[in-house]
Amino acid sequence: MTQEEVMQRQETIQATLSASQPCITLVSGEKRPIAEIAKRIQSPSSIGIYKHCPRKYFYQYIKKLPMKENIHLVRGKIVHSVLERFFDMNPEILNKDNYVEELTYYLKNLFHAFWSKEKNNIMKLGLTEDQIVFYYEESILMLANWLNHILEKIRAELDYHTDFVQVFQRIKPAVIEQEFKSSIYAVRGFVDYIEVVGDVVKIMDYKTSKKKELSQEYMLQLAIYALLYEETYGRRANKVGLWLLKHGEMTMNVDQELIDLAKFEIEQIHVNTQTSHIHDYQRHEGPLCKWSTGQCDFYDVCMKDKRAGI
Ligand code: SF4
Repeated sequence: MTQEEVMQRQETIQATLSASQPCITLVSGEKRPIAEIAKRIQSPSSIGIYKHCPRKYFYQYIKKLPMKENIHLVRGKIVHSVLERFFDMNPEILNKDNYVEELTYYLKNLFHAFWSKEKNNIMKLGLTEDQIVFYYEESILMLANWLNHILEKIRAELDYHTDFVQVFQRIKPAVIEQEFKSSIYAVRGFVDYIEVVGDVVKIMDYKTSKKKELSQEYMLQLAIYALLYEETYGRRANKVGLWLLKHGEMTMNVDQELIDLAKFEIEQIHVNTQTSHIHDYQRHEGPLCKWSTGQCDFYDVCMKDKRAGI
């Protein structure tokens, strides 16, 4: 489905649902549709930031203070761009004798091109040359791990199909990098890819994180994607999951509990972000304010406000 078709589909479904819009009960006891009380469109990351520290949410989404780049953000952007563009390759040049070499070469070239594009930004991060080499090589290893998984899929398909264009189409995700938006829940999210195999729909997100775990934060992100998918396509996805570039795939089933988790957290963020007063956004001080090699983007202003009693 194209982006345009998805938007049309969303409008149709949302028009159908508008008569029974989900409501929030305010402190006054009054019930109001979420879309009416929402002060801004939320996302898995804005909700995650609020849950981590409401004051950080205030600086980032209400005061809109500038964010600082860091190597994890820049590297994540590069790797996501490579994975997004990988399936643009013309499969007509592939055959069973050259596909491993050609795909490896193509992936390396893509990575090098996106890394070079970000080189000036990387140089401004204040890393040592050894650190830059480390992140460059670690990123290549992550992509090599992912490519091995793709090559395995191709090998399995080659047992049944000989035409490489067909094989490539069969392993290509049904959806790559798509924005989903709900005007009913006032929330949006960018899904990395969706796989459809037979009747099974799987919504996936790439992660470059070190830990092999489906944390609460990731689970909420995936729950919101499942809700957005359901609203957009009018059916429930079967699975959601992470493609951890260091470790491989982790998935979980989509059930009513997961959808309810997304709805609950979306309602909470809209209720909790009604005002623009800094005093309504408490500090949650902890290890993520400042650590041995870095600090929260808003550490300086936050501590200055604290000294001033704000
Ligand atoms: S420095 Fe700590 S308390 Fe202040 S905004 Fe950042 S995370 Fe929150």
